[in-house]
This record gives sequence, C-alpha cells and structure tokens, in this order.
Amino acid sequence: MMSGQQIAKLAKRRNCPRCSLEKTEGNALCRRCRFKLPPHMRLPLEGIVNREEWVVASALRAAANYFDIRYKSILFFRGGRVR
Ligand SMILES: [Zn+2]
Repeated sequence: MMSGQQIAKLAKRRNCPRCSLEKTEGNALCRRCRFKLPPHMRLPLEGIVNREEWVVASALRAAANYFDIRYKSILFFRGGRVR
C-alpha cells in the first residue's frame, strides 16, 4: 500500500520514475509512458492526488507488471529515490 504522502511526493516529482523524462505534476508517469498503457490503466495514473490511495497503488502495480519491470523498480515507482 501507498500512503497519501507517498502519492503526493510522486505527484510532485518533475521527472518520470520509469524513464526519467519530464512529467506533468499530478501524474504518476510521463505522457510517453502513460500512452504505452491501455486507457483503463492510464487513467488512474493521472491526477493521482485526487484519487484513492488503493486505486493509485493498484494502478502502479498494474503498470509495473505491464512494463515487465522488476520488484526493485516497483518500489521505485512508489516514489522512492535512486541512490
Ligand atoms: Zn516515462
């Protein structure tokens, strides 16, 4: 599960957690990544601060599976930082 705080942090990020390109504030992923997803997966990743936490969390998990990334990267999707 993601906390509201984690979601807010992710929304504020200026770069996409997946590809590091610039993203719009409020969205979980950049436009380019979001448009690789089917529409029903893309929508819950837009305007994430106004959505319920479980919706955002499951949408991110679905997106991560879709992109076939590893567990480590899924944590990164949740607003973690690269060190
Ligand atoms: Zn991206």
